[in-house]
Amino acid sequence: MPRPRLYVSRSDLGWGPTPASYADPKSGLVIHYDSVDQGLAAAPHAACLDYWRRTRAFHTGPRRRWADLAYSFLCCAHGYVVEGRGLYRQQAAQPGGNSTHYSATLATGPGDPVTPEQIDAVRLLRAWLMEPDTSVAGTVLGHRDFVSTSCPGDTAYALVRDGTFTRPPGAGTEGDDMLGLKRGDRGQRVTLLQQMLLYAGGRLPVHGVDGDYGSETADAVLSVRRSMGSSVTSGDEITGYALAQIHAAVARRQAGAVS
Ligand SMILES: [Zn+2]
Ligand SMILES: [Zn+2]
Repeated sequence: MPRPRLYVSRSDLGWGPTPASYADPKSGLVIHYDSVDQGLAAAPHAACLDYWRRTRAFHTGPRRRWADLAYSFLCCAHGYVVEGRGLYRQQAAQPGGNSTHYSATLATGPGDPVTPEQIDAVRLLRAWLMEPDTSVAGTVLGHRDFVSTSCPGDTAYALVRDGTFTRPPGAGTEGDDMLGLKRGDRGQRVTLLQQMLLYAGGRLPVHGVDGDYGSETADAVLSVRRSMGSSVTSGDEITGYALAQIHAAVARRQAGAVS
């Protein structure tokens, strides 16, 4: 498999080769986030590249003095894999795993959604790293699996734990996956629904994205549907109408955030 179709290389960014030292990480991929909300899912992709340049300046500047950007890659909200240190380099991302695992940041903060495109970017990156020439293990971990840290945030860590990132590229990012879900259901499709609800402006203040369609998720479904003008009184099931309204709420929120 060639490198991910939506790929931004260092040379695309106008950067030379990284000065970071050689390594051959084989043990898997570690997911990171930013400690501050960045709002990149609702911004144009150019904002991701600006973010990447700023992060590099910060990491190589007087407060960090690292050789380069900490991470191997960025998997952005628009589905791009953006090169950081890239292949075969020591990182400054996860002490204890900087030469054994590759690192990818989602550039999200605690309140930012992880988009379906972003999930697929992680899957494509993982599949690429598992190719015979690099032959990295398919394991996906979160930064908090190495040290005590909030990183990669509860939203992304739920996706690490429930296996969302280790599914094949293209699997389960379509809305149809959520059709027919109902209160009491559990698992990856519920995780996806919960991501979409957050993306649509819904709130999951207590349990967050936990893959469990309980009363909080039902309340979020109801509030998102009502925000789109529905007069339903229950959020206990994802009907075709419910799904259409959730998608419309996402689209409306994206349009609003851009203007
Ligand atoms: Zn981290
Ligand atoms: Zn982007």
